[in-house]
Amino acid sequence: MTKVVLGFDCETDVGSWTPFYEGLTHGTPRSLDLLQRHGITATFFFTGDAARKNPEVVRMVLESGHEVGCHSIFHETVGDALFEIPGVYPLLPEEVENRLRVATAMVESVAGHRPVSFRAPRLFGSTAVVNALENLGYVADATYPMYFYRERLSPYHPSRDNWTQEGTLKIVELPNFADLSMESKDPYGRDLDQWPLFRLEGAEALMRHTDGYANYCRQRKAEPFLCFYFHPWELHPMPEGEIHFGEGSVRPDPFIVKNCGPHAVEQLDRFIAMLLQRGAQFFQARQIAEAHDA
Ligand SMILES: [Zn+2]
Repeated sequence: MTKVVLGFDCETDVGSWTPFYEGLTHGTPRSLDLLQRHGITATFFFTGDAARKNPEVVRMVLESGHEVGCHSIFHETVGDALFEIPGVYPLLPEEVENRLRVATAMVESVAGHRPVSFRAPRLFGSTAVVNALENLGYVADATYPMYFYRERLSPYHPSRDNWTQEGTLKIVELPNFADLSMESKDPYGRDLDQWPLFRLEGAEALMRHTDGYANYCRQRKAEPFLCFYFHPWELHPMPEGEIHFGEGSVRPDPFIVKNCGPHAVEQLDRFIAMLLQRGAQFFQARQIAEAHDA
């Protein structure tokens, strides 16, 4: 039986490229509607800022029976950057735990309970991050980018000395699925990643990669585990081209915003239907962690 975790990362429009929450406020109800129609559950990872400025969205998610997790304060780079981002520098390791403590408190104050699942922005995790999460009482970290490290296929307890290796921490690391059955042509392996295939190439293309990866797992006697990251802002039309605010403009790469809105909603809907046809079962990140040693 294939276990699936759908994670929706709740942040400003176009990741951290804008300060706006149009996508969060309009896209979250669409994702909740979709999950309800299919009778499945998911985890919504809120930045502290997104939770604080959109408490009604946090309540909507909780009232629909889903998990609220944490996604840093402002979508900052909390761990090891896997590629460079203009003007964005990683936290220093000694800043990490305090930063995550504040992020956790911000989400907790809105949600009414402490989040126990985390995802690092852009999947930029680190050893310092998992140690900090362990100290803060988290049970799940849905960060491991399989496209980059390409080793761990299934949820695991990370090592306190190297988060990408198995060890003795109590927290459970959930690998974000990438199609390891294909050959990568990218130096970072980003072309193996599942995101944002559903938007760019559609549900069938993502399903082909998912099936290819499931076969890859079975050949290695591993039960396929599929953790995904999506964003409410992808389910609402995003501006293409230059976006002006503050004292300048940003122009996100076209693939970042292409097909956001109704097309993305339709493709996600079809993709979930195909997973269900294959007998997949859907879990929240915390449920995977809590069942891990049971
Ligand atoms: Zn994010």
